[in-house]
Amino acid sequence: MIHGIDHIGIAVPTLDEAISLYRDVLGLVPSAVEEVPSQQVRTVFFDLNGVHLELLEPTAPESPIARFLAKNGPGVHHIAFKTDSIEEQLSQAAHHGCRLINETPTAGANDKLVAFLHPKSTLGVLMELCEPRGIK
Ligand code: ZN
Repeated sequence: MIHGIDHIGIAVPTLDEAISLYRDVLGLVPSAVEEVPSQQVRTVFFDLNGVHLELLEPTAPESPIARFLAKNGPGVHHIAFKTDSIEEQLSQAAHHGCRLINETPTAGANDKLVAFLHPKSTLGVLMELCEPRGIK
């Protein structure tokens, strides 16, 4: 079951520049920077009453975020839905013909399990399913 939007992922070339923007222009408070090796990114979160903005900076040229930036420039990258049953959501998506980028959940930022649905099968929106560990 989906419980809400966990976060909106935004691809940025450099975290420093992006953190300044969100901190200085909007007055938001950044979390600590976290490196997520499985996604080849460094991330920082801003908490807006439980919905977060996730800034994503690539750590390698072959990182999916590096490829996204090369193709589209900086901007909104994905929407993450909070679930308490990521495996079930994945099989439901597969059952309805969605292309899964991750057949099984992987380790995401903030100690969450995450999996992505391919935007070619979700009307152009890269969807992330995200299960906080310990929710069950
Ligand atoms: Zn995300």
